[in-house]
Amino acid sequence: GSTIGILGGGQLGRMLSVAASRLGFKTCIFEPGGDCPASHVANFHLQAEYTDEEALRRFAESVDVITYEFENIPTSALDILEKLRPIHPNREALRVSQDRLTEKTWLTDLGLKVAPFADVTDAETMAAAVQHIGTPSILKTRRFGYDGKGQARLKSPEDAAQALADMNGAPAVLEGFVDFTAEISVIAARSQDGQVTAFDPGENVHKSGILDTTTVPAKLPARFQTDAVLMAGRILNALDYVGVLGVEFFVTPQELIINEIAPRVHNSGHWTQNGCAIDQFEQHIRAVAGWPLGDGQRHSDVVMENLIGDDMDRVPELAADPNCALHLYGKAEAKPGRKMGHVNRIIRG
Ligand code: ATP
Ligand code: MG
Ligand code: MG
Repeated sequence: GSTIGILGGGQLGRMLSVAASRLGFKTCIFEPGGDCPASHVANFHLQAEYTDEEALRRFAESVDVITYEFENIPTSALDILEKLRPIHPNREALRVSQDRLTEKTWLTDLGLKVAPFADVTDAETMAAAVQHIGTPSILKTRRFGYDGKGQARLKSPEDAAQALADMNGAPAVLEGFVDFTAEISVIAARSQDGQVTAFDPGENVHKSGILDTTTVPAKLPARFQTDAVLMAGRILNALDYVGVLGVEFFVTPQELIINEIAPRVHNSGHWTQNGCAIDQFEQHIRAVAGWPLGDGQRHSDVVMENLIGDDMDRVPELAADPNCALHLYGKAEAKPGRKMGHVNRIIRG
């Protein structure tokens, strides 16, 4: 059988490994950390830094194809890996999504709508950005932000100096605040021969910048459902993408605005594990392995809830609930803000 190499050993890598194993593949994860969620289930764990060229080579040579669970893979590591094995999704998908400014510019060039944005590097560009975008707005670091980290909100122009200081000198984008009625996301997939499919849009609620719940079906006008899926397909085709992609949208009464994209399986797609015959993890493995995509039609209504920090105290109660499917990541310590697991609650009509 063949082996799938996964860069990153968090919960996404863990669930990708489980899906790969169900299809008869072996998995090898590359992850600098030791006792990580994916290492408990993968066949092999290569524990090394992304700067360790020898280890990267050994990893690539021990697998047939490489994928990843996070988008911040250093370019220098990719240079080594791509000479040895195919990487899916491709480098262009990583280049576009590693940097919020590049991503927003690329989406705009594709004819898709994003919130108004401006490049910020120092006090001068910040002043120009505030002038151009106005307030309320959000300053976000261009790179490495997740779960709302690396963001500062501006209620008025007086907040500019503090927001800029919060970036600690990192390049940022100022983004106009979108007065959304809802947030949704589409988890879509593209196969090696260009087949495209999408799961039903999910409606997302965030708490302190972190995803709290995803509900399917999303309460959304039918034309927006179709629009959202078509936009995701357009992104996949433009990138000549192979694998699963997450696209986050703001919904306003007039239109859909893209918040961001993620070139990987996505937290807001976890509901598919219990709402569809083929979930996002299997869909991703199928795509990177060169298989046809599976049937991602939704068979149940689901509310996915993240279990963060001491939400873990609720596990005994959730485990006793016949409508709940628990997915726990095996993390030792339940720190505040740390994603420990999630629960898919099946809503029975
Ligand atoms: P993720 O973990 O999804 O990668 P992130 O750190 O990249 O998160 P964003 O998705 O940019 O953060 O923002 C987190 C949340 O903050 C959004 O889902 C939304 O609720 C809110 N938010 C972000 N940008 C805007 C905006 N321009 N207008 C209104 N709300 C916003
Ligand atoms: Mg993000
Ligand atoms: Mg987001």
